[in-house]
Amino acid sequence: MIHTGECPHCGKRIPNAKAQDIELKYDISIKYKGLSYTCPLCKKILGIQLNPVAQNRYLLQDMKNMLKKI
Ligand SMILES: [Zn+2]
Repeated sequence: MIHTGECPHCGKRIPNAKAQDIELKYDISIKYKGLSYTCPLCKKILGIQLNPVAQNRYLLQDMKNMLKKI
């Protein structure tokens, strides 16, 4: 596999990104599980997103709560 992606911070080609759990805070009391992606060479953050597995659980719980109201 040829890796063509370059880190926007250090400019080096990176073979992978390190994913780590991170807590995302919205407002004061709302927290979500997230993931941060960092460059394995310079350790700077490449991006952050909601944890996709947790996001599915949040959506499922929201749907169950909505169905209880029907
Ligand atoms: Zn880098």
